[in-house]
Amino acid sequence: MSFLEITGLQKSFGANQVVKRFDLSVQKGEFITLLGPSGCGKTTVLRMVAGFETPSAGSIRMDGKEISGLAPNQRNVGMVFQAYALFPNMTVAENIGFGLKIAKKPQPEIDARVKQMLEMIKLPQIADRYPFQLSGGQQQRVALARAIAVRPKILLLDEPLSALDAKIRVSLRDEIRVLQQELGITTLFVTHDQEEALSMSDRIVVMSAGQMEQVGTPFEIYNFPKTRFVSSFVGTLNFLTGKVVDAAAGRFSVDGQEVITSRGLQGASNGETRTLALRPEAVVLGSGGEGRNSLTGRIELVSFLGSIVRIRVRFNENVVSLDTFNNPGAPPPQMGEDVTVSFGRGDLQLLEEAEKVAA
Ligand code: ATP
Repeated sequence: MSFLEITGLQKSFGANQVVKRFDLSVQKGEFITLLGPSGCGKTTVLRMVAGFETPSAGSIRMDGKEISGLAPNQRNVGMVFQAYALFPNMTVAENIGFGLKIAKKPQPEIDARVKQMLEMIKLPQIADRYPFQLSGGQQQRVALARAIAVRPKILLLDEPLSALDAKIRVSLRDEIRVLQQELGITTLFVTHDQEEALSMSDRIVVMSAGQMEQVGTPFEIYNFPKTRFVSSFVGTLNFLTGKVVDAAAGRFSVDGQEVITSRGLQGASNGETRTLALRPEAVVLGSGGEGRNSLTGRIELVSFLGSIVRIRVRFNENVVSLDTFNNPGAPPPQMGEDVTVSFGRGDLQLLEEAEKVAA
């Protein structure tokens, strides 16, 4: 039995159905990320788990008990928001101890817990400061400490890093993950940032227009995206659209040149037009040897990105981007050159046919 069991969850605001169907089983201690573009409904799912929104349909069970009828303060969840939602007129210590005070815990216990939390977020010296005296990163650490201080069963994080600058964002993201692992706290994290999702999560739920597109580990989502939406949202640049020559044998034609996928073309029919995804790092310049795919085309763009040089090769309708490392001893190839590129048979991933149309 999973720790958190969400079944058939839906939410409409008037005629606007923002969560069409959401089903998810979360194990105790898992770090789950809801990833998707702005407006896809991820915050609404989180707010339904927190108790700030009432579902239009479906159930949310935590530890075997239905919680969707309970008020937020009866659910045993801790939440951190995007904007620093600290109480401005309270010190850091008062902010962190707030939930415990409401729960009428004795003051010595509150003091001890606050001290422990401040050490945990590596800010032991700021107990008496007010939020306006803290940097953005410090405020979010305090917000995290406040959420965890009450020892919630689930931690809900709604884009807690998005207002911070890039460097702090990366270091705080690592800290959150380490802390989450140490405490073993079940966590739902909302973000539109694929790098955050890939680097922090045990599993990712990719959402688009109120629907779940795919659920999987970062490894699965990145390497084996099921839909074009997932593929493009998590960073695959290359799509090869062509005709299925022989589905059983994995033979596929791209602008008249044949490639083979060892992943198979299950569900596709011969003669049908389909799309395969191919990651840039799987593609190299030069013709492939035995058991690899090769395609010949012309370089139409060379972008010097510093340590990496990105090269775009056009076949006819289709293009493929690939990355080569900068080598000061050897200038990169030039635009207009005819080249052959190669990639493995296991690197082509058939995308599902019906793309969900954004509402
Ligand atoms: P973002 O990252 O921008 O917060 P999101 O994926 O978290 O996006 P939601 O905040 O869940 O998306 O919003 C989904 C849709 O529901 C949006 O179109 C939004 O305008 C709408 N919505 C959210 N809350 C309400 C509300 N209280 N009343 C009416 N519409 C709402």
